[in-house]
Amino acid sequence: MHRLAAPRSNHRVRDAVTTAIAYFACASASLLLTRFDGGVAIVWLAGAVLFAKLCAAPRRQWTGITLACGATGVLASQLFGIHGWVAVPLPFICVAEAYAAAWLVKRTYPRFGRFQSVPEVASFLVIGGVAVPVVTALLAAWSIHHGRDIPYWTAWRDWYAGHALGIVAFAPPLLLTLRGQTRQWISAADGNRFAEAVILLGLVVAASLVTFGQDDIPLVILPFMPMIAATLRLGRFGAIASILILLCIALPFSLAGHGPTTLLHVSMAVKLQVLQIYFASIVMILLPLAAELRARRRLLDRMHAAEALHRLVLDRTSDIVMRLGIDGTLRYASPSVERVWGYRPDELTGRKMFHLVSPEDLPAVLDARRRALAGPEETAIAEYRVICKGGGMVWVESHMRATLDEHGNAMGTVSIVREVTGRRKLMEDLTQQAMTDPLTGAYNRRAFDAALRALLASVPTDGVLGCIAVFDLDHFKSVNDRYGHAAGDVMLQRFAGVLRASVRDGDLIARLGGEEFAVVLGGMAADQARLVCERIRKRQERAEVLDAAGNAIRATVSVGIAPLVPGQDAEQAMKTADAALYRAKNAGRNRSEDAA
Ligand code: GH3
Ligand code: MG
Ligand code: MG
Repeated sequence: MHRLAAPRSNHRVRDAVTTAIAYFACASASLLLTRFDGGVAIVWLAGAVLFAKLCAAPRRQWTGITLACGATGVLASQLFGIHGWVAVPLPFICVAEAYAAAWLVKRTYPRFGRFQSVPEVASFLVIGGVAVPVVTALLAAWSIHHGRDIPYWTAWRDWYAGHALGIVAFAPPLLLTLRGQTRQWISAADGNRFAEAVILLGLVVAASLVTFGQDDIPLVILPFMPMIAATLRLGRFGAIASILILLCIALPFSLAGHGPTTLLHVSMAVKLQVLQIYFASIVMILLPLAAELRARRRLLDRMHAAEALHRLVLDRTSDIVMRLGIDGTLRYASPSVERVWGYRPDELTGRKMFHLVSPEDLPAVLDARRRALAGPEETAIAEYRVICKGGGMVWVESHMRATLDEHGNAMGTVSIVREVTGRRKLMEDLTQQAMTDPLTGAYNRRAFDAALRALLASVPTDGVLGCIAVFDLDHFKSVNDRYGHAAGDVMLQRFAGVLRASVRDGDLIARLGGEEFAVVLGGMAADQARLVCERIRKRQERAEVLDAAGNAIRATVSVGIAPLVPGQDAEQAMKTADAALYRAKNAGRNRSEDAA
């Protein structure tokens, strides 16, 4: 364990020492080259070094690195900066400033360091460029004002400008280089991209040299163009590399007394501040631009990936995906439409989809569409028939949702449409089976009860709800006994035929069980019902079937009729009808009886 820990702690010490040396070099250069009239350094590079290193290093190394930089900072300040007691707090304020900025930035944006998103760049600019140096300048200015007799707010301004601009301009390129992003970009780039980078960055070098290498024409805007081009084409790498190039050219030339700042008739300190404002503005334009570009590129990548997936799914599925405009015009149909409905997608594009819907189902489709458009969060479902190219019909189930524009207004719908003809047929068969009697094809008891309940719950027309009639074949047991069960079955079928031939189309015929049948005569008054039942009775009396031996068989029927009364329940109605039937049986059979 100890043997493993040793190289790591060596590594840590080496990190702290190299950072402290870099800090010392930058602090010394700033103090030697950018201090005028005994005041503060106008360009403060060292803060950016420490800030960038802290942001790139793990938190446990922060104290060591900061203390090491603090020590070399004191040394640089005593050697090249303001001497005396007043200089003592300044190096500490410097390291505290970088530490505080790094701490706050990491707190607000824990993955800080890649300048990839606009919020990340914005939090860096606010914390490193405004909040922290504003406060540290207040403390430092007090010390400088008392020690050097410089007006407090002049000292504050010089400190703030140097430190804020130092971090904003220098920390991003340093940090990205420290995090290996530059190397990563270079190793990921192919030949073409590399050539493009060389050309664009070459143009940045040229523009920077032309701008800062001469003293006559203020061409300050010139480097912007290749820098923006490099950012647009190369992203974050282009932005950072071109900022670094500009700094490396502009700073030495300006310090040597060349470039656009020579045209300003102000002190060197103010010239350098102007230069730093220039650097910082470029950073503030290029970094958010690069971050925004990256966000868009990622979005585009995701869109391409989603589109590829989408195409794959659409090519393989038998479902049809459709997009309709707000007026119902088909804008897109997936290729499967040809397999299922027979139309090529381009035959349908631009046509109103409603023409393909079976007219009976159109209201349901329009209603579902209305629901989808009214509630974009909802998926509306409709089942309807589509008229296929060959003229046939298929049942489909469509799930539809509204598509919205950027203001949230519905622009149309997208639907996934699945053919359900098979399922529909199965359901119809099952319903039919569940509701009918296999021997006679009449409805069963369950269907009869449901129809009776529905009629009792309905509003009577002309004050008449209707009647029910219950039929029971007379002495049916003896038919079975004499001619056999099979002959009995034929007789039951025959009677069902008599019923069917004698009632109106809408009247429901049911086999309640055994040789007992019932008919629901909706809207029919009792006397009329009686006429109908008499007709049935007489027809049955005449009806005959033959047994296997060719013998003619007849069976009469007795009927009990009950008029339906609003508010009555189904059981009561059945009891009344049964009672009437009982009376018919007792009165000698082959007759019909009304409710008493
Ligand atoms: P009633 O005039 O009093 O109604 O006399 P019935 O013999 O018709 O009455 P009962 O209830 O005593 O007998 C009903 C018979 O109906 C008994 C049963 O064999 C016969 N049956 C019931 N279901 C079927 C069926 O599905 N097929 C055949 N063939 N006969 C059936
Ligand atoms: Mg019976
Ligand atoms: Mg009977």
